[in-house]
Amino acid sequence: MDKNTSSSSSSAAAHVLIIPFPAQGHVTPMLSLAKLISFSGVFTTFVNTESIHRRLSGSGRIDGRRLRFRAVPDLLTDDGGNERDFDFPSMFFNLQESMRRGSTETYKKLLTEEFIGEWPPVTCVIADGVLDFAIEVAGEVGIPTLVFRTSSPCCAWTYATIPSLINNGIIPFPEECDMDEIVKGVEGMEGIMRRRDLPSFMRMVKSTEDNHIKLMNGFNSNLVSGKVIIFNSFDALDPTLLPIMSSYWPPIFTIGPLHLLTKFWVKNSCSSSLRQEDRTCMTWLDNQPDKSVIYVSFGTVAVMSPEQYIEFWHGLVNSGHRFLWAVREDMVKGKQEMEVTKEMEEETKKRGCMVEWVPQEEVLAHRAVGCFLTHCGWNSTLEGMVAGVPMICWPYFSDQMINSRFVSDVWRIGLDMKDVCDRNIVERMVREVMEGESALELRSSAARMADLARKSIDENGTSRANFESLVSYIKSAEL
Ligand code: UDP
Repeated sequence: MDKNTSSSSSSAAAHVLIIPFPAQGHVTPMLSLAKLISFSGVFTTFVNTESIHRRLSGSGRIDGRRLRFRAVPDLLTDDGGNERDFDFPSMFFNLQESMRRGSTETYKKLLTEEFIGEWPPVTCVIADGVLDFAIEVAGEVGIPTLVFRTSSPCCAWTYATIPSLINNGIIPFPEECDMDEIVKGVEGMEGIMRRRDLPSFMRMVKSTEDNHIKLMNGFNSNLVSGKVIIFNSFDALDPTLLPIMSSYWPPIFTIGPLHLLTKFWVKNSCSSSLRQEDRTCMTWLDNQPDKSVIYVSFGTVAVMSPEQYIEFWHGLVNSGHRFLWAVREDMVKGKQEMEVTKEMEEETKKRGCMVEWVPQEEVLAHRAVGCFLTHCGWNSTLEGMVAGVPMICWPYFSDQMINSRFVSDVWRIGLDMKDVCDRNIVERMVREVMEGESALELRSSAARMADLARKSIDENGTSRANFESLVSYIKSAEL
C-alpha cells in the first residue's frame, strides 16, 4: 500500500470504528478524525467509555447520518476521569484492566454486528495507540487495526529509543548525573535531546524491571502492531525525523493539525470539551489591546504545589502584563493552605482574569493574546502553533518534556522553562516573549510556523493529501 496513491478499488460499505483512550487530550483529536472521516462518506462509530460518553453529551453530541456515538462500560466511577491519579503506570494499568473487564463484551459486539439499517459491519478499527485492550480485541476478532498516536512524532520516536538507551547504559540515569548532558546515539535527535528532555518518568527508573519501562515498551509495541500509524501532525514540522521513522515503522500518515482541518471541512459540529467552558473570558479578552495578554493553561492533567502556583502568579503579576489563566479546580494540590496577599488580588483584578476552563482554541485565536504559557501537551502545542502565538513552556511530564525542547530549540517558537518554577524566571521569560527585539523575533517565527500549518491543510497540502489517501485506504479492499 502506497500512502501517496489513492486506491480505486473502493467499496461503499466501509465502516470504521474509532476508539480513544478516555481522557480529553485523546478524545479531542480522535473525535476530529471521526468527524472528518464520516464527512468523507465513511460510516463511523465513535466509541467512548460511559463516563466520557456522558460528558460529551454536555457538548451537544448527536448521532448523524454517517457518524454515531456508542458507549462501553468501563467499571470506573464518573468523577471527572482518571486524570487525578499520578502514579502513571498504575493509572494506565488499572484503566486498561478495568476496560478489559468492563468493556470487552460490548466492544466485541460492536465489532461483530451485522448490518443494522444502512450501517454495514465494521471493516476497520482506528485504535488509540495507548489502548492495548482495543488493539488486542480487534485482532482477536480479525478486524484490521490502524493505530492513532495522539502524541507528537518526536515523542513517539523518543519512546521508541528507550530500549536502545537501556542497552547503552543511559537509562537508568546514574546518581547525581548532569541533566543537561546531551543523550548520544538517538538517530535524528543528535545534539538536541538532553537527559532532562526524556520522558519525566525516566528520572524515577531505578532498574530495567521498572513499571515505567514496561509501560513505554507496551506503547512501542502497540504502535507498530497496526497496518498504519496516524499522527496529528504535519510533515513540515519534522523533516528529519519522519523519514527516519518511516524507514522502521508501518506507513505513517501525518494528517494534522486536525482541529484546523476540521474547522475548514466540518461546519456546525459538536464540541469535544469534557468540561463546562466559561465564556466570560471572551468578553474580558474583547476589552484588551492586541497581543497584550499572556494566556496560561497547564492542560487537563498537570498539578502543582501551592508554592509553585504562587511563584507563577507572582511572576505574571510582576511582569506588569495582562493575563488570562485557566485554573482547573483540581490543578493546585492543597490550595486551601495557600496565602494570597491582598496586593496580588488587587493587581490581578486590574489586569488579570482567572477562570476554570476556557474555549482554548478560540482564546488562542483571539487578537488580544500575545503569549501562551503552556505545559506543552501535544494538543495545546499544536493549537498554539496554528494560532501563531509564541510559547513559554513548563512541561509537567511524559511527552511534554520533548515537546517543549522542540518548541524552543528545533522550531524556535518559544522558550523552555522546564524544571524551574521561580517568579523571577517567569517574569523574565514573559518579558522576553512580550517585549522588544526578542518578542519580534519569536512572533515572526511563530507566524511562519502558523503559515506552514495552514499550508499543510490547503488544497495541495501534505496533510490534506495524506488524509485523502487514508480515506481511500479505509474504503479500499486493500485492508
Ligand atoms: N483545553 C480547553 N480549555 C482549557 C484548557 C485546555 O479547552 O481551559 C483543551 C485544549 O484546547 C486541548 C486539551 O484541553 O485541546 C488539552 O490537551 P493537551 O494534549 O494539550 O494536554 P493534556 O490533556 O495532556 O493535559
